[in-house]
Amino acid sequence: MPLSIHRDDLLPGRNFIGRWCEAQQGRRFDVIDPATDTVFASVPDSGADDARAALDAAHAAFPAWRAVPAKQRAQILKRWNDLIMAHREDLGRLISREQGKPLAEGRGEVVYAASYVEWFAEEATRANGDVIPAPVTGRRMFALKEPVGVVAAITPWNFPAAMIARKIAPALAAGCTVVCKPAEDTPLTSLALVKLAGEAGVPPGVLNIVTASRERAAEVVDVWLDDARVRKISFTGSTPVGKQLARRSADTLKKLSLELGGNAPFIVFDDADLDAAVDGLMVAKFRNGGQTCVSPNRVFVHTSVHDVFVDKLAARVGALKVGPATEPESQIGPMINARAVDKIERHVIDALERGARIAVGGTRLVSLGTNYYAPTVLAGTDATMACTCEETFGPVVPVTRFDTEAEVVAAANATPFGLAAYFYSRDVKRIWRVADALEAGLVGINEGALAAEAAPFGGVKESGYGREGSVHGLDEYMQMKYLCQGQL
Ligand code: NAP
Repeated sequence: MPLSIHRDDLLPGRNFIGRWCEAQQGRRFDVIDPATDTVFASVPDSGADDARAALDAAHAAFPAWRAVPAKQRAQILKRWNDLIMAHREDLGRLISREQGKPLAEGRGEVVYAASYVEWFAEEATRANGDVIPAPVTGRRMFALKEPVGVVAAITPWNFPAAMIARKIAPALAAGCTVVCKPAEDTPLTSLALVKLAGEAGVPPGVLNIVTASRERAAEVVDVWLDDARVRKISFTGSTPVGKQLARRSADTLKKLSLELGGNAPFIVFDDADLDAAVDGLMVAKFRNGGQTCVSPNRVFVHTSVHDVFVDKLAARVGALKVGPATEPESQIGPMINARAVDKIERHVIDALERGARIAVGGTRLVSLGTNYYAPTVLAGTDATMACTCEETFGPVVPVTRFDTEAEVVAAANATPFGLAAYFYSRDVKRIWRVADALEAGLVGINEGALAAEAAPFGGVKESGYGREGSVHGLDEYMQMKYLCQGQL
């Protein structure tokens, strides 16, 4: 079993609410291996009573955790980082098993997740406030940062370790306590990370996790949305669900970070280094089989280089090896589930019906299993097609021609979303002009791999608000208190 793990106790298979426990109603749901579409584990199918118990535990633990000196919280987070790195092989296999990504990517995600834990361990000790020059004599004025309180973290399935780390590490660093619900498809990596957090010294009650099936996700999360004791929601997932959380949490006016869907443009100008642009697109598009929020979803190529670019791209895409993570040479794994493959197929059929043509791919790979789709390049796509209006979240590259810079910038911005955008050009004036004009939270200029723990990650428009990582990431979990001392 190439994806078996060494430490079986990293699979507790239960909720952690101050201790490892079953769901109160005793229900469980199956975890499916997307490579084979077979059940390989089960975890608690929690409900409202479990969500409430987790919140009670986090609320009770908050006063003591916020009082722990920042340096001590930092040391616990550093130990968590060290344990994650020490178990990167097991965690990488677990990610690949439940999420499907190739093993090299599973291992890479562990290192990426740990980088946020290490970063926020360091940031914990730098939550400095301000000493403000008083406008009158006899006063001293200060601005302090304090933890917001209990944080509810709700995460998606596409990066089961990184999404948890990006939320929980800054929350714990700030002195907040946490209740967390991972995605139905990928609960195991999250449970393993919580287990390691306990071993690192995170006290019981500070970090609580409840797993739930898709049917019960809202039942669990609604408890947290409605309860005034939760002071912060940190959500990564789709825009419709993000909006729902914002609406429902409005009654208790919680602080929100929403990392939502994208529809990233990738522009290749006529002055671009075409080989570098193909390399960048391969990296940006095919990581995790295209199942990333920053995946280019609309590729615009200047008409003068269009045909050469499509030929180069199709050759590279056609050579990608598709297969399960158990095969060391796999570069593209299965999609997360059958619904995901159905959506990809719907987008490709719609594009063909509206006049696009297939340069390479364009089919399910049924000989590999139910969840595989061939890496695909579609030429002749336009703004009327589902594949350019909705996130495909799969290995499909729609390519559209353009003639002028003004036209392509307008087309790139003609979407409600604004997460990532990419462009390739060697003209320095154009680079600054286009970078300024693109409506996106992240812009890759002659670069396809953007994410880093030191960089602020997040979107604009309907891709959400708030930033993860960077020197700004800790502030999402803190509130400012102004102190004014008079009579001096
Ligand atoms: P999703 O359906 O919105 O699910 C995200 C999380 O919310 C999961 O834990 C899910 O539980 C839960 N959830 C679903 N419906 C809910 C409801 N009515 N009330 C409360 N919670 C609910 O998104 P997804 O399909 O897992 O993830 C893909 C999306 O995430 C894409 O749009 C992608 O762009 C976005 N994403 C954004 C970023 C970013 O940083 N901006 C990063 C990664 C992904 P279940 O899994 O049990 O349904």
